[in-house]
Amino acid sequence: MGAQIIDGKAFAAKVRGQVADHVARLKSDHGITPGLAVVLVGEDPASQVYVRSKGKMTVEVGMNSYEHKLDPDTSEADLLALIAQLNTDPEVHGILVQLPLPKHLDEDLVINSIDPAKDVDGFHISNVGLLGTGQKSMVPCTPLGCLMMLREYHGSLSGMDAVVIGRSNIVGKPMAQLLLGDSCTVTIAHSRTRDLPDVVRRADIVVAAVGRPEMVPGDWIKPGATVIDVGINRVDAGESKTRLVGDCDYDSCAEVAGAITPVPGGVGPMTIACLLANTVTACCRANGVAEPEGLTA
Ligand code: NAD
Repeated sequence: MGAQIIDGKAFAAKVRGQVADHVARLKSDHGITPGLAVVLVGEDPASQVYVRSKGKMTVEVGMNSYEHKLDPDTSEADLLALIAQLNTDPEVHGILVQLPLPKHLDEDLVINSIDPAKDVDGFHISNVGLLGTGQKSMVPCTPLGCLMMLREYHGSLSGMDAVVIGRSNIVGKPMAQLLLGDSCTVTIAHSRTRDLPDVVRRADIVVAAVGRPEMVPGDWIKPGATVIDVGINRVDAGESKTRLVGDCDYDSCAEVAGAITPVPGGVGPMTIACLLANTVTACCRANGVAEPEGLTA
């Protein structure tokens, strides 16, 4: 295997350390403790795990964590009322509504009811517009984590050919905007792309965000390219066990790539670290205090 492994777990620990340092300074110099409110509607097991680990890590970096667990049949009016209350709560600097929401709730309406300045997921339409026009915004956590790893590995990304596979609002589109912001030549590929292997072979940077286990084989990768694998797919590992794999076939991609993120231990840990980074950034902006450097786009 030739590729250097980009260790997202170690990098995320470093980012969380930087966040913790900044939180400590906010407390000692300004008497402010950043607070993150996480709203979970329903009992989706995966969402419960995510919310628990977000809460634990929020506390570990010294911030306040406020968890709001609502019944699966919570009405839209009650959820919007809670968000309105969190929007005006001065102790709350970040608000995250765990997705997906139960089907009777309008996700767009709910997300767009969050104060954009507290929208630490970066999904509010105002933040999407700000990112698209190169203005200061809250940046979605997963693509932000990918960008941080790419900058750490390459330094400047200027002029590089980047292919993002996947055009979701959560990963693919904001990832493409961020790469464009760092002066890459960006192609967004998706399910209707003609000759995907050929498109991917042109890339110095490949970001795979599809949700199809191991769909990108090594012979799609240009020798020396950097592969960022966002996919998290649970597959059968025999003997009634499962294992996690990415959207890239790790072994064959690692043979040709210059650098690659593993699954697990690549993009995943960076996502929560960036959520914490966004919360501290939101807190600094709300209080007119200098933002931590290197923790946003
Ligand atoms: P999504 O289902 O919203 O979007 C998938 C995209 O892939 C779509 O735009 C679609 O056009 C494209 N696609 C589908 N089939 C394709 C094909 N055959 N060829 C090319 N493109 C194709 O998914 P998402 O929310 O963007 O998530 C993508 C993956 O990333 C999932 O595995 C998800 O679990 C994972 N994910 C990981 C993290 C993390 O923290 N690591 C965060 C978010 C999502």
